[in-house]
Amino acid sequence: MNDVTDATDAFDTTVCIVGAGVSGLTCGTFTARAGLETLLVDGGESILRRNAHLENVPGFPAGVNARTFLDGSREAAADAGCRFVEGRAVATTEHEEGFTLELDDGRTVETRFLVAASWADAAYLPDAVETDQRGSKTYVTADEYGRTSLEGVFAAGRLAGKPHQTVVAAGHGAEVGLSVVEASEVPFYHDWVVPEGYFTDRDRPEPPGCEEIPAEEWSERERVARERMRALLAEPHPDDPTPHPSLAASDGTDER
Ligand SMILES: Cc1cc2nc3c(=O)[nH]c(=O)nc-3n(C[C@H](O)[C@H](O)[C@H](O)COP(=O)(O)OP(=O)(O)OC[C@H]3O[C@@H](n4cnc5c(N)ncnc54)[C@H](O)[C@@H]3O)c2cc1C
Repeated sequence: MNDVTDATDAFDTTVCIVGAGVSGLTCGTFTARAGLETLLVDGGESILRRNAHLENVPGFPAGVNARTFLDGSREAAADAGCRFVEGRAVATTEHEEGFTLELDDGRTVETRFLVAASWADAAYLPDAVETDQRGSKTYVTADEYGRTSLEGVFAAGRLAGKPHQTVVAAGHGAEVGLSVVEASEVPFYHDWVVPEGYFTDRDRPEPPGCEEIPAEEWSERERVARERMRALLAEPHPDDPTPHPSLAASDGTDER
């Protein structure tokens, strides 16, 4: 991906999300839009890339190519201000200001909040994060807000035990993003974009997180949105679905 940040060996951020799949991208969109510096680390690809045609996400009456959906989700996260780093998370150390995440090539990320959205790997998390082994899969134990047993560490999507569905993973990513915002000192009400005057004409100040925009601005945003959707959907996606690893791997192992 050409949106990857690689200018340094030691990254510094407020929110580090491990996993730029469905839940991680949505989580990052919410934390970045709330103004929190957000870095997404990914060392592979979303399991959704194996899908043949995605038919149960709202807004796409005849479905959508899953890889196109992921590309669009990544563009939205980048637009919101997320940075991306390619690499596999292998270890985490807790310290007074947060966490140091170590990547497989030795690079590190300093972060205050850590979100594990890394289906199906929790091995890099500190031992203080409770997990639940079910068969060959490890799930991270999290409360309804995605908070784990270690303060500052959150879990999102399938890794947090959510049903194996795209919209659920995306929704949970958003919810966990909002939990992170709530744990920070950023003042926040809702992430809403509303017509000019929606609050202020009722003598209410624009609440934090909300944005009032005039008619010219929302027509312009709609024009840009239509253009970008046309570009995203103009051609069939170049990539085929990724085969299951047990079919692709010569040794027949099932990695997930
Ligand atoms: C064949 C198939 C078809 C499917 N079809 C549908 C469908 O039609 N409709 C539907 O609703 N759902 C479908 N799903 C389910 C959907 O893909 C998942 O529920 C959803 O992708 C889960 O989102 P997630 O963010 O939890 O995980 P993912 O989207 O898989 O994202 C996890 C990310 O974490 C990264 N990662 C993992 N470990 C590390 C690490 N240590 N360091 C760095 N990065 C790491 C991975 O590379 C990946 O990008 C399908 C799944 C499969 C397998």
